[in-house]
Amino acid sequence: MTQQELTGTGLHGPFSLAADAIDEELVENCPGAYALGFIDYLGRFSITYVGSAGENLKSKLKAHIGTASQFKFRHFAEERLAFEKECEMFHQFLPRGNFLHPSRPHGTDWSCPRCRR
Ligand SMILES: [Zn+2]
Repeated sequence: MTQQELTGTGLHGPFSLAADAIDEELVENCPGAYALGFIDYLGRFSITYVGSAGENLKSKLKAHIGTASQFKFRHFAEERLAFEKECEMFHQFLPRGNFLHPSRPHGTDWSCPRCRR
């Protein structure tokens, strides 16, 4: 079992939340879901925030630089899959930085796979 499977997100990482790491790991103009967090005293990735990007995960992650020390991510071919992954992580981890349930992207009628809202 890999380290990524142990943390249960199915995301790649963690990586340092910095411009050079983001440039190195992500591709341009691709949707994706991400988790921000830090490495706790047991060496585990502890999630403080989750999100998704419908068009450009790279630029969205860069906007978070300075708000957390580490990130994990996964690219998705479709925006809908990124949104659903964000919803699933929200329910699974209840990150302290996410006060509200993820809202569906404008112009869509997608619903959360967990709670159908
Ligand atoms: Zn939900």
